[in-house]
Amino acid sequence: MALSNIYRMLQRPFYHGVYEYPEESGHWYTGKHKPIITKELFDKVQEQLNRDQIVRENREFAFTKMITCGLCGSGVTAQEKYKKQKNGNVHRYIYYGCTWAKDLNCKCGYLREDALIESLINLIDKIDLNELGLKNKFHDEVMRYNRFQRNVLKRPGNEKSESDIDLRVYAKYILKEGSMVEKRELLSCLRSRLIFKDKALTLEKAENIDSRTA
Ligand SMILES: [Zn+2]
Repeated sequence: MALSNIYRMLQRPFYHGVYEYPEESGHWYTGKHKPIITKELFDKVQEQLNRDQIVRENREFAFTKMITCGLCGSGVTAQEKYKKQKNGNVHRYIYYGCTWAKDLNCKCGYLREDALIESLINLIDKIDLNELGLKNKFHDEVMRYNRFQRNVLKRPGNEKSESDIDLRVYAKYILKEGSMVEKRELLSCLRSRLIFKDKALTLEKAENIDSRTA
């Protein structure tokens, strides 16, 4: 069932015993059917739906479709929430969690995006990277930097070569400072599978990585 259908169901007064006829006419009737929820519960749900201001349209997030739920094997997806703080400011949060595609009762929980990035940065040293893909990206970045030094700052002497690069330092830098597209590109260079479990990320094939570094 699509998430939008669930939202629609949560907003149908029919389940607490009333219906409107004709639709949108403002004429409400009490049905002969047995309500399956109380009016109080219905009102509480509406209040919650309004408070969270959950954004329902599909948005692009940096790390969706690249992580697997460690409990049920579904994908991991993101949702965005806006929460009003006491001082009136609205704060945007991004949460990652199981899509429940394989287990509707999966209890893997949620992780905020900043915690997820922290978790990824901690994994970078152990991750099996497609170094070639990352090297090409780094090469473009160095060329861009040198053009900037030469043409904008007029400091050709400050140009850098890419001979002594630490790709893992570069990867961590992208995770912290990169755009969404750059983060997605970086994750597409990973060879290890990322698993979301116990509110943290782990790598699936730990034994392969051990034999590689041994
Ligand atoms: Zn799951």
